[in-house]
Amino acid sequence: PVGCPKRPSCLTGPDLKVISTLSVGFDHLALDEIKKRGIRVGYTPDVLTDATAELSVALLLSTCRRLPEAAEQVKSGGWTTWKPLWMCGYGLSDSTVGIIGLGRIGQAVARRLKPFGVRKFLYTGSGPKPESAAEFGAEFVPLTRLAEESDFVVVTCALTPATQGMCNKDFFGRMKKTSVFVNTSRGAVVNQEDLYNALASGQIAAAGLDVTTPEPLPTDHPLLSLKNCVILPHIGSATYATRSTMAVLAANNLLAGLRGEPMPHELKL
Ligand code: NDP
Repeated sequence: PVGCPKRPSCLTGPDLKVISTLSVGFDHLALDEIKKRGIRVGYTPDVLTDATAELSVALLLSTCRRLPEAAEQVKSGGWTTWKPLWMCGYGLSDSTVGIIGLGRIGQAVARRLKPFGVRKFLYTGSGPKPESAAEFGAEFVPLTRLAEESDFVVVTCALTPATQGMCNKDFFGRMKKTSVFVNTSRGAVVNQEDLYNALASGQIAAAGLDVTTPEPLPTDHPLLSLKNCVILPHIGSATYATRSTMAVLAANNLLAGLRGEPMPHELKL
């Protein structure tokens, strides 16, 4: 059966010819089996890039300027007299931002962060992309150097066997104590236990996650006990306009697939 490896109940029969996913990510599909059976797959790249990049920036700012924690202080009465260092965080001015995966969303994030006064962009991936990097003067570096030098790390890569668990103890151990980690790609790119330890021990300043393992994250998960971790329920592409455009594209992919025509966006397997 072809199905989601995470949901064994999600199985399909032998007649399946076309899959249409309402996402740009396809890590939830059993690609080897799909390929073997000659099943066609439609997906929704590009149309969700802006919404996901916008959410990535919102999450980064919420995390580095401690917005959920600060808003909670207003409600709980923790807001008393003005104190110079109360609720201080980290700003983007003159910072170094490291982007893991300078693809469609990674570039759109860099484009939005540049006007905040970022001094330097670093990026990593399977190889240098001078054409994509030129707009930001971004420098291609190994993952280790990106971890060591970035004030903000933003993960926007695809989940693949190579990226699974890539942000681990070694990675967080190389980050600065004042640095902020943001992941809007897939939860499994991060070793969550290692992230918890890095946040709890003060090895890194804070983390913002739109994606976790598992999803939904159990409400008693240790990460939710940390003040310096902001977690959102996978809402990267969740604007009305984007979801509507994605739905039309996914339907058109499916119809074209069923008719045996070229899909508007077919995954090359
Ligand atoms: P792209 O295919 O345009 O970009 C993927 C990037 O991943 C590429 O730049 C690629 O770099 C990079 N990558 C692949 N392997 C590695 C590696 N080993 N190390 C570092 N980077 C690597 O995809 P999109 O930008 O459109 O989407 C990216 C991901 O974002 C999706 O796969 C999905 O998982 C996630 N997403 C999350 C959403 C949310 O709601 N939070 C919404 C939409 C997407 P290279 O070309 O150098 O290999």
